[in-house]
Amino acid sequence: MEKKSKITQEIFASEEEKILVWENIQSSFEKNFGLEIYSSWLKSISLLKEYNDYLVLGVPTRFFRDWIVSRYLDKILSLLKVFKNSINRVEFKITDDNKISQIDPYRDDSLNKVTEIKDSILNYNRLNPNLNFDSFVNGSSNEVALSSSKKVCEQISRYNPLYIYGGVGLGKTHLLNAIGIELEKKTNVMFISAERFMYHFIKSIKKNDMVNFKDFFRKSSVFIIDDIQFIRGKEGLQEEFFHTFNSLIDKSSQIIISADRAPMKLDRVQERIKSRLAGGLVVDIDTPDLDLKVKIIKKRLEDIQNQFKETSDISDEVINFMASETKTNIRELIGVLNRVITFSKIHKKVLTIADCKNILKDVFNQAKIITVDKIQNTVANFFNIPLAEMLSQRRSRPLARPRQIAMYLAKKLTTRSLPEIGRRFANRDHTTVIHAVKTITRLSEKDDEMKNNIDQLRSLLLAE
Ligand code: ADP
Ligand code: MG
Repeated sequence: MEKKSKITQEIFASEEEKILVWENIQSSFEKNFGLEIYSSWLKSISLLKEYNDYLVLGVPTRFFRDWIVSRYLDKILSLLKVFKNSINRVEFKITDDNKISQIDPYRDDSLNKVTEIKDSILNYNRLNPNLNFDSFVNGSSNEVALSSSKKVCEQISRYNPLYIYGGVGLGKTHLLNAIGIELEKKTNVMFISAERFMYHFIKSIKKNDMVNFKDFFRKSSVFIIDDIQFIRGKEGLQEEFFHTFNSLIDKSSQIIISADRAPMKLDRVQERIKSRLAGGLVVDIDTPDLDLKVKIIKKRLEDIQNQFKETSDISDEVINFMASETKTNIRELIGVLNRVITFSKIHKKVLTIADCKNILKDVFNQAKIITVDKIQNTVANFFNIPLAEMLSQRRSRPLARPRQIAMYLAKKLTTRSLPEIGRRFANRDHTTVIHAVKTITRLSEKDDEMKNNIDQLRSLLLAE
C-alpha cells in the first residue's frame, strides 16, 4: 500500500487540472501573432486536455501541426506560461486527419507501424518523421554519437545497449527518433520517454493490469527509451525497468537509451541498473562549436525553403551573429532562428545585426525574465522531487541540495535581493540564502557533477 501511494505521488506532476480559459488564450494569440497568422493557423487549435505541467492541444492535420511547431511553438509556449507558469510543454493531437489525408503532403503512413497502446497517452508519443538522420547535422561534438546510431541501425544488437548522453537540447531525442524511423522499416520499434514509461506503469498498477504492461514492453525488437535520468529516486519504477531491460536483452532486442549524464553519474539509481546501462556502448554529445551551429542554421533555412516554398533573406552576417551569441544549446539556437525568421517575414525586410539584437534582446538578456517561481519549478523537475518538498523544512540531502541550488540560481539569474529570495523559499532567513550561495559556489568549483548540473539548469532556464 505504501509503495502505491509513493508511486502515485511521483506522477503528481502530471495530474489533470482545469484552470485555463481557452478563449482568453486565443485572444492573446491574436494580439501577439497578429490577425493574419492567428486566423490562418492558430484559431484552429483547441484545448483537449490540461495537466498542471503540460497541455494536449488539438490541431486539424499533421500539416497544421508541423507548420505550427516549426514556426510558432516557442512563442505559443511563452504566451501559455503567462496564463499558467507551470506549463513546460505542449503536445499536439491530430483531430481530423482522415478527412484530409489525401491533400496532406506530410502524411506518413509508416507512423502507424509504431507500436502503441490504444487509449493511452502513449498515443501522442509517436516518432516524429522530421527528426531523421537526414535532418541531423554532423559536427565534431556529435559525430561519434551519430555514427554509433547509424551502426546500430545497420547491425542490430552489435552494441547493446547503446547509451547516448549529453546536456539539454543537444540532439539526443533527435538521434533516438532517427534510429526509430530507420529501424521501424525493418522491425517493430517501441519508442518511449522514461516519463511515459512510468505513466503507463502507474496506470497498469492502478488498473491491476501489470501482465499486459509487461507483455507489451517486453515484446518489442527495438526498445528506445528517452531521458532515462527520470527514473532517479523512483524505486518501483527502477525495479520494473530492470526486469524489462533484462528480458529484452535475453531475447536479443536492441535497446537504445538517452540520458542527461553518464551511466555512473546517475545518482539514486540502483548499482545493478547503472552497470547494465554502461554495459554496451556509451557515447556522449558535447556542446556544439560555431561551425556546427552555422551549419544547423543554414540547413534549417534550406529545409524551410524546400518545404514551404518560401525564401528567407537572412544574411551570412546575421547567421554568424545568431550562432556566436547562442552559447548553450541547439534548441535555443533554433528558437532564436525562428524568431528572426518570423520577424523578417512580418516586416518583410532583410535584417541587419542591429535588428537582430533588438529582436533577441530578451533572449540574450535573460536576467529580466527569469522568475524565482520558474527557477524553483525547473530545479524541482530536474531533480525529480515535488516542489512542495523542495520548499519544505526537511533537511535531508536529496531535498536540501536542490533547494540550495535553486537559491543559488535565484541569486545569480534574477535581480531579487537575498531577503526576497529567502521569503520565496518558505520564509527562510537571508543568511540561509547566503549560506546556500556559498555552498553551491564552492561545490561547483571542485565537483564536476555539481558544475554539470548547474550548467544544465542554466541552459534549461535560458533556453526558452
Ligand atoms: P535533447 O533531446 O538532447 O534535449 P533534442 O534532440 O530535442 O535535444 O534537440 C533539440 C533541437 O535541436 C531539436 O529541434 C533538434 O532537431 C535540434 N538539433 C539538435 N542537434 C541537431 C543537429 N545536429 N542537427 C540538426 N538539428 C539538431
Ligand atoms: Mg530530449
